[in-house]
Amino acid sequence: DPAPASLPVQTPIQVIVRCRPLLPHEVAAGQRSVVACRGNSVFVEPVHAYQNPRGFAFDRVFGPTTTQQELFETSIRPLVQHALDGYKCTVLAYGPTGSGKTHSMQGSRPLCPGMMFESVAMVFAAAPSAHVRMSFVEIYNEELLDLLDESQRRLESAPPTSTSSRALQAAARRHGVRIKYKTKPPVAATDGVNDDEPPPKLHIVRHPRDGVIVHGLQEAPVASAADVYALLEAAIDCRQQSATRCNKESSRSHAIFTLYIDTTLIVGGNTVHATGQLRLVDLSGSENYARAGGCKARQVEAANIGQGLLALGRVIKALVEGWRHVPYRESKLTRLLQDSIGGATMTTLLLAVAPGDDSLDETLSTLAYAQLAQ
Ligand code: ADP
Ligand code: MG
Repeated sequence: DPAPASLPVQTPIQVIVRCRPLLPHEVAAGQRSVVACRGNSVFVEPVHAYQNPRGFAFDRVFGPTTTQQELFETSIRPLVQHALDGYKCTVLAYGPTGSGKTHSMQGSRPLCPGMMFESVAMVFAAAPSAHVRMSFVEIYNEELLDLLDESQRRLESAPPTSTSSRALQAAARRHGVRIKYKTKPPVAATDGVNDDEPPPKLHIVRHPRDGVIVHGLQEAPVASAADVYALLEAAIDCRQQSATRCNKESSRSHAIFTLYIDTTLIVGGNTVHATGQLRLVDLSGSENYARAGGCKARQVEAANIGQGLLALGRVIKALVEGWRHVPYRESKLTRLLQDSIGGATMTTLLLAVAPGDDSLDETLSTLAYAQLAQ
């Protein structure tokens, strides 16, 4: 008998690395690069001269000259295609603050669009008539915040003449996104934000058929890439401004952008409706907050923030090692991602690495985190 064809080993989680270039101010400050990318390996210069460089192998490694387009074409396009085919796909960007997570995930339009924008463009190019919805939620200190809702709340009190608010209003109107106008025009606060009404509470629930749902989270129908860009950019803007206003670090929150794509598939002669899902997550900075001192509230916050990434690490380990019980319930982040990693989903962990000698410790711990997934 011929030997049974061996199935390709399916790693549930692809791990890729992107090492950014040294930035001009780092070069000016005399930093050296201690990271070398060769093939699919990363070599890190030893801490002590008598040691050998340490090598780490990954599914794919992108060096400092990699463009956003190369990263997208090589590693993200297959996931978007999978989502268009009705499956769930997730990209998680992990790394310390300043390593390039937000650059890769958001980047900036029009010159350097990140994976969020590239993915949206691909979805609407591949399926111009698809029914697509988007949501954008932030987890900060174990609390969820709807970034679409939040940017609309700002809009209510923003001067209607500002360009971003006009673009957002137009996009929102075209697609029936709820904008709550007050009957009385609000008295403009100095920063144009209405603080009297707290944002509605969001709750994560598991639905037997639909999986994980966030009660109260907006899923805005969007009909074109331009509409997603408008909503996304307003939300990104709002996220940064509210971070500054509340004196919180946006690098300490997880930002989770999701596209839901309703498709019709023909399976064995039957028409099947499926909802593909593409989830792009800009995780909080992975640096060790425990070392941060400060007041009691700050310490609790630091513990909460570290909790999400630790829990995610345990979930990844459990999935890779095939544990019977995967500990999803240990943080808001892992509860929210429960049906977006593992199982039939395609998950890519993107490790962001800064090459400078100042970042050596963080680089080593980032690369080590990923060993969980292999
Ligand atoms: P993080 O989100 O991980 O804290 P950022 O994405 O904000 O890090 O990146 C930190 C800085 O490095 C930013 O100024 C960003 O523009 C720059 N940067 C990151 N990745 C790259 C890259 N691949 N090429 C050029 N500059 C980059
Ligand atoms: Mg960032």
